[in-house]
Amino acid sequence: MSPANSGPEMRPGSALLIRELLHRVRTWAPRGTITYRDRLELTYAEWLARVDRLGGWLKALGVGPGDRVGVMDWDSHRYLELFFAVPMSGAALHTVNVRLTPEQAGYTIQHAQDTVLFVHVDFLPLLAAMKPHLSGVRHVVVLADGPWNAPEGLPCAGEYEEELAKATPVSEWPDLPEDTMATLFYTTGTTGEPKGVSFSHRQIVLHTMTAGLTLAVHEDPVSFRADDVYLPLTPMFHVHAWGLPFLATMLGAKQVYPGKYEPQMLLHLLETHQVTFSHCVPTLLQMLLHHPQSGTVNWRRLKLVIGGAALLPAVAREAQSRGIRIVGGYGMSETCPIVAIAHIKPELASGSEDDRLGLLTRTGFPLPMVQVKIVDGAGQAVPPGTVGELVLRSPWLTHGYLGDDASSDRLWRGGWLHTGDGALLDSDGYLRITDRLKDVIKIGGEWISSLEIEAALARHPAVREVAVIGVPDAKWDEHPRAEVVLREGLESVTSRELVRHLHAVIETGVIHKRAILTEVVLVSAIPKTSVGKVDKKRMREAAKAMVA
Ligand code: AMP
Repeated sequence: MSPANSGPEMRPGSALLIRELLHRVRTWAPRGTITYRDRLELTYAEWLARVDRLGGWLKALGVGPGDRVGVMDWDSHRYLELFFAVPMSGAALHTVNVRLTPEQAGYTIQHAQDTVLFVHVDFLPLLAAMKPHLSGVRHVVVLADGPWNAPEGLPCAGEYEEELAKATPVSEWPDLPEDTMATLFYTTGTTGEPKGVSFSHRQIVLHTMTAGLTLAVHEDPVSFRADDVYLPLTPMFHVHAWGLPFLATMLGAKQVYPGKYEPQMLLHLLETHQVTFSHCVPTLLQMLLHHPQSGTVNWRRLKLVIGGAALLPAVAREAQSRGIRIVGGYGMSETCPIVAIAHIKPELASGSEDDRLGLLTRTGFPLPMVQVKIVDGAGQAVPPGTVGELVLRSPWLTHGYLGDDASSDRLWRGGWLHTGDGALLDSDGYLRITDRLKDVIKIGGEWISSLEIEAALARHPAVREVAVIGVPDAKWDEHPRAEVVLREGLESVTSRELVRHLHAVIETGVIHKRAILTEVVLVSAIPKTSVGKVDKKRMREAAKAMVA
């Protein structure tokens, strides 16, 4: 159906495409730099020429509209090239989560129907372990910083640098419909199999523009400008490193890609390149601040957005005491991800230091074009200040899970994206996440399903009943706590025995390694709701009260 007043038809160049993000930087910052660890520095002119050559090479590999291209790499200039060239060629970029078990990662590659994989040498063993899932892969390209070897028994299309050097650049990137899928990755922040979350060119462009605008117009306490030096501290497979590499590139900002996250290297790069803007989960910030060589960094120049878990006042205070300008933000895989940042409203800016701290550790103020609502179990809006489930609308929220209509409908029930987070909207319009309704635990930025840990523990013959929740953890944000009721006659079994049993299951590689942090507590009963379901809310409240 054509809309009334539709006007003349759309012209080339008017669609919201990732390609459009690169026009200005070609002449704005040709001498600006993109650095990889302490190994390589490219000018934007050189980097853009590599992107154009990558486009020609992808075409030669037969990659075009409808294809999916998987990447397994640390944060690198090459990953950034793929961020642009793959979607600009019409294919979708699948940013493979390299921290998943081989079984799960293989599942995502098979489910995504990746035909070409770009794999850093460090991940070749992981690739080998997922071979049963790779029958659809036509080409594997190896990414290497030194000597490399071809993966055994898989079709190898050579090494990235060698092949890129030979490639003929694309002269013109294709016009595409703006709804073309640009990126795809899998979230384990839900229960069941990992779910494919995708974003279109239009959504990435709108997210880039709006996050960029919000960070440009609000200085207090954190902004992001073209003259900042950017280093991502969120892996590029995790929601496109929160979309900031697209923004940094569009602005022509100096960028530093750290490769594998090694604390000493991160500290070295932060100081050597005088990095001014980054973003990470609280666990990573704590790790850097508490590192023995943390004193080698002048933290005063750094502006930092913290997300993925709550920014606690104690953590914010510690960062501020080093001179870091810090702010909390909120988002999730399904939301591209940024939907709120805790900028301080001008009318609240003159409060005391404590008031300001209270504001910037609220979960965030919604970005332009984001509608937020707090609803009860029946989907009805609750009064301001009341806790309910946070639901969202915005042009850049995922439309659903790839090939999973039932879960997509559940995500979007009632026409709003359901976050699975308990939250309230305070009288100033700031969001506060208060609880998690979904049955998953986030340990240092990585998800573990509580159901998987429950299933593993339930395999022990002495376990009659088990329920797992996430409890606050100073280092990891949260860790799993399993409450176990033992079978009659087997009460002599100890929690240490159960922990050993769980570790043995983790060793087999079926659950995420960080489940090793699970604390097992023996109890006489597990709290139940009025309808007899395990009452995890009550368990979480009791655990929180014990910590407080
Ligand atoms: P992910 O999909 O891995 O990005 O995880 C998103 C989830 O992390 C959200 O649904 C929340 O449960 C949690 N999260 C993200 N940001 C915050 C925050 N600022 N405070 C509390 N929880 C958060």
